[in-house]
Formats: sequence, C-alpha cells, structure tokens
Amino acid sequence: MAHGPTGNAPASGPLTVATLLREPGLPALETRILLAHVLGWSRTQLITRDREPLAPDTVAAYRELRARRLAGEPIAYLVGTREFFGLTLSVSPAVLIPRPETELLVELALERLAARQAPRVLDLGTGSGAIALAIAHARPDAKVIALDRSDAALGVARENARRLGLTHVQWLASDWYAALPADTAPFDVIVSNPPYIVAGDEHLSRGDLRFEPVDALTDHADGLAALRTIVSGAPSRLVANGWLLCEHGYHQAADVRALCAAAGFADVVSERDLAGIERTTGGRRP
Ligand code: GLN
Repeated sequence: MAHGPTGNAPASGPLTVATLLREPGLPALETRILLAHVLGWSRTQLITRDREPLAPDTVAAYRELRARRLAGEPIAYLVGTREFFGLTLSVSPAVLIPRPETELLVELALERLAARQAPRVLDLGTGSGAIALAIAHARPDAKVIALDRSDAALGVARENARRLGLTHVQWLASDWYAALPADTAPFDVIVSNPPYIVAGDEHLSRGDLRFEPVDALTDHADGLAALRTIVSGAPSRLVANGWLLCEHGYHQAADVRALCAAAGFADVVSERDLAGIERTTGGRRP
C-alpha cells in the first residue's frame, strides 16, 4: 500500500473514493451518498472502484456538496431525490422532504381503500406529491386529485408523476378546498400532511427544517389552523363511510380528535408511528 509509516493516507497523490472516505467531517454514509451522486455510481461500484483516481471535476463537485452539507443543507436537497414508500421522488427546496413517518398515512389510506373499486382520493397540500403518488402507485384503479397552493411545489409533483408514469393523478393549484371544483367530490378518502408546527417553535430554526419551505411546516399560528380548515371542510366532500386521515404533531392528537368529533366524524382514532408517537388522526363520515 502507498500509505506512510503511520498508516495515514498520503498528503498528496490521486484522490480516490477510499481517500475521500477517510477525510474527517461528514459521517461515512453521507460521504458515500454524495460520492455516489456526483460519480453516478452504485453503492457496489463505490466499493469495487474505491482506488480509482477521480477526475478533478468530480472531486470539485463533491467538495462543493460536502461544504453545503457541513453548512447544514439536507442531503435530499443536495442529491435532489428521496425515497418514499418504495418510490424515488425528486425534491427541491420548494417542497418538504418526505418523512418516513408519513408512510403511516399512506398505509392507513390504502387499508381504507382496500375494499373499494376505482376509489376517489383527495390529497391536500401535496408538496412533492409523495402521498398522492404512493397511493396512485399502489392503486392503478384510483382517481387521485392532489392540490397545493404552491405552483413551485406542483411543478415538482407533476415531474415526479411524469417520471413514475402515474397518469391517474390530477394536480390542482388550490388553497385547501378553495379552488376544488364541486364536481370532483365526493371522495372515498381525503388525506393530508398539512403544516402543523406552532409559529415560533424552536425546531423551525434547527437542522433540516431551516432549509425547507416554511409554509409547508407551520401555519404561522397555533399549529391547528390548517387542520381546522381541512377537518371542517371534509364531511361535505366525502361519501358516506368515507375517511379523513391527517398527519399532525406529536402533541396534537387529542386536539385533532376533538376537531373530528365536532365535525361529526365517527370512529375517530389516532394511530402511532414507528416511534410510538400518535402521528395521524382520522374519522369516518357516517
Ligand atoms: N413532520 C415534520 C417535522 O416535524 C413537519 C411536517 C409538517 O409540518 N407537516 O419535521
């Protein structure tokens, strides 16, 4: 080996995947993700080709992403993709990065849809399209309408739909129900992962959230403003025995159950995510 007597990498010499992985700074997993991205290599190639000298352009591209990551930018924005429910989705700073805990909402929606033929589904505040596309992928017979107030988000969502070949989702610019044509209802299931973080919550100024669209995270109020609008507008847009399912914050389950009960929902129930936190609440329109 070309290593010096101390066992450290040589100060000069060609940079390779192996030498870059030994640099201090980022966790090895993040270095691998960024290198796989700039090289266009698989994880396997990162191992089998780890001694190949890298082109200066490649190293420069890696160094730039590394610096941005060290400054806190989320990995998903740096590489432009994120996995959700088995789908690879494009993401940009125009959309919230899909979270693993939101897969619970998709599972619950698919359970409620299982016995229904050609169901109609509405996704409110779709962002990257993650929830709508996961449902559409699992249910080719569904008719899905997904809306968002943000045109930039809808651009990302439409591009995801195009790349995944999912043509049975209709995208709509709308502030919650405001621009939803009356003849699109009634729906079998309405789902939403709305902004629910309380205005001024310290998490908004920490970690990945600093780089995400603030309007997708917080209602700039008590955290329940969007949820109130969504819950109160749902019954008139659901079929009898149709379901509303909403994601919410770790401390909001009782509040959202109360909103659902007040709106006339039956079978109101909260479900826990894999971390054991009550993460979704929903109800059945009698
Ligand atoms: N689950 C996100 C977070 O706390 C918030 C998403 C949302 O507001 N819908 O990081």
